[in-house]
Order: sequence, then structure tokens, then C-alpha cells
Amino acid sequence: MRIEEEIKLDFKDVLIRPKRSTLRSRAEVNLHRKYNFRHSDKTWEGIPIIAANMDHTGTFAVANALAKHSMMTAVDKYASVDEWEKFVQQSQHNKERLNYAFVSCGIRQEDFDKLKTIMRQLDLALICLDVANGYSQYFVDFVRRTRDAFPTKIIMAGNVVTGEMTEELILSGADIVKVGIGPGSVCTTRKKTGVGYPQISAVIECADAAHGLRGLVCSDGGCTVPGDVAKAFAAGADFVMLGGMLAGHDECSGEIFIENGQKFKRFYGMSSTEAMNKHHGKVEEYRSSEGKSVNIPYRGAIENTILDILGGIRSTCTYVGAQQLKELSKRTTFIRVTQQLNEVYAPYQIST
Ligand code: 5GP
Repeated sequence: MRIEEEIKLDFKDVLIRPKRSTLRSRAEVNLHRKYNFRHSDKTWEGIPIIAANMDHTGTFAVANALAKHSMMTAVDKYASVDEWEKFVQQSQHNKERLNYAFVSCGIRQEDFDKLKTIMRQLDLALICLDVANGYSQYFVDFVRRTRDAFPTKIIMAGNVVTGEMTEELILSGADIVKVGIGPGSVCTTRKKTGVGYPQISAVIECADAAHGLRGLVCSDGGCTVPGDVAKAFAAGADFVMLGGMLAGHDECSGEIFIENGQKFKRFYGMSSTEAMNKHHGKVEEYRSSEGKSVNIPYRGAIENTILDILGGIRSTCTYVGAQQLKELSKRTTFIRVTQQLNEVYAPYQIST
């Protein structure tokens, strides 16, 4: 056994130090990024925020709403070939929108077969290979197999939290490595297993490893407010994936229900008992659930939340003088803090 003494940081442990700036208004800030990839020959341009491939947020309705802002959605892996076909047909007059939707895939043979069917029948560009634990050799081989089958597609793979495994996945064929073990809003991995890594440090370390190889990283999980999304980009994330922050809206799956006069929507982790029962009919005996179910207050149209998030990041950029999102991490100095917020009126808050 060994102990690493250096303190690792989470969103709650840092703030971004403001810097002198010549920017006059947040309207001057451009959040679009343009990326080339290590393996894929494609280029991608847009606002690099991705709705998580959970069955609540990874819906085609969310994809439509986010694509209007050039933002992305990792459609959940349970979407059928027929549903994909319909989505592609409906995009005939707006083909651009297909550049913002990832086809997600687990590591079972049937997942891979479905991925091949979807990618061959429909001209899509983005693949998201997702497992809870990206450290297995089986997953590395799976990434390699996927790269061999799709040499020109953009492949995102994860999740991992350390530099050496980020490198391994990039060398095996990933263009983007998804970073995060345990930070998610409905994740219980840290509770069940004791495994995890504070997200800001994970992003800093994995981005450093990836960028050295012309790879990219996606910070996945743990953002609770727009400021956290800004911190993830400031730490070096090329993309940021959001589950909980986009949950509870009209475009998310699930019905609205009323309890004590208040409207709610159901949200659950993809390894929760609820998700496993829903998609597999049971929880396998050899595994425990590593996710939870929550009822979240219904939040209306996702558009308002999107604007709130983008407005927040634009404002971060003006505070540090970054005219483009690309400059944010270069212009960031994080300061370690012991407190983030003044919560004196928390019990009395009526709106944001
Ligand atoms: P959030 O933005 O809600 O904090 O985090 C979203 C991320 O949590 C997802 O993209 C995924 O990586 C992770 N996640 C989703 N469901 C589960 C789960 O059941 N267990 C664990 N360990 N992580 C989950």
C-alpha cells in the first residue's frame, strides 16, 4: 500500500482568479471551438458541451434543442436503429444537426452489432464508447476494435481519471477520452467501492496527458452550476458532459408527476437498480447498483437552462479576459479556497 500525499482538487476546492481584461461585454465572447482529431480525419466546430448518454438526458428531443446552439448530445445506448433512422430522416433539411449527436455504445457484442448497423446505414460521425470502468484490458481492446471498424469516425471513450490510462486509450484509437469516476450527481461508486478521483485534478492531469498526444478530453460528471462548467474548461477540458444540470426538463424522458402540489421528473444513474431493472429486467447477482434514483423538481424548457449555462461561461471569460473559450484555460489561475458561497439566506431563497 502507498499513499499519495499531494492534495487533489474538486470543483468545490477552487475558484478562478479574475484578471485585467480589455473585453467590454460578455457579448464579445465566442464559445465556439474548432477541433481536429488524432485519428479521425474530420473537423468539428461548435460549443463543446455534451448532454450525458443517460436515458433521461440522452434523448433526441434534447439533441434537437442543444444542436440549435451547436451543442452536443450523447444519445443513450438504448435508442433503437429505427429511432436513429427517424432522427436522421427528420434532419434532411438540417444535416448539420447530425454533427452534434453521438451514437453511444456499451461493450457487449450486441451493442457493437447495433453500432455497426447504425453507423453503416446512416451517415453519422460521432461514437461514444462508455463503460463505468475504463481500466480493463477488455475495454482497451474494444476501443481498438472500434477504431479498426471505423477509421474516420470521431471516437470518444471512457471513463478514466489518470494520465497513463488516458494515453493508453488515445493510442488505442480514441480521439476524445472521457474523464470522471465517481463525481456524478446520481452516482454512488465512491460510496460502494471507495474508488474515485477529485474531478478538477483528474481533468488537469488527463488533459495534460492527452494534449501531448494530440488527443482531447471530456470532463464527465460533477458539474452542479454554470461556474463548475467554466472551471472544467479552465482546467483544460476540451468538452464538458452534463447529466444532472440538464435533467428535469420537457425534452428529457419520463413523465411529469405531482407530489404535494409540486411537479417532479424522475432521474436515475445508469447503473442504478432502477436503470438495470428497466433495461435488463434485473440486477445481476455479482454486481451491486452504483447509482441512485432521485425525483427532481420539473424545470420546464431546456432552452432557459442552456442560456443560463452559456451566459455564465461567457461571464467567466470576461472576468479573465478570454475573448474565446480556447483562451480560458491559458488565462486561468485557480486559487484554492475553503468556502465557495455565502449561504446565509439559503433557507429563504425564492428564485435564482
Ligand atoms: P452529472 O452531470 O449528473 O453530475 O454526471 C453525469 C455522469 O454521471 C454521466 O455522464 C456518467 O458518466 C455518470 N453516471 C451516470 N449514471 C451513473 C451511475 O449509475 N453510476 C455511476 N458511477 N456514474 C453514473
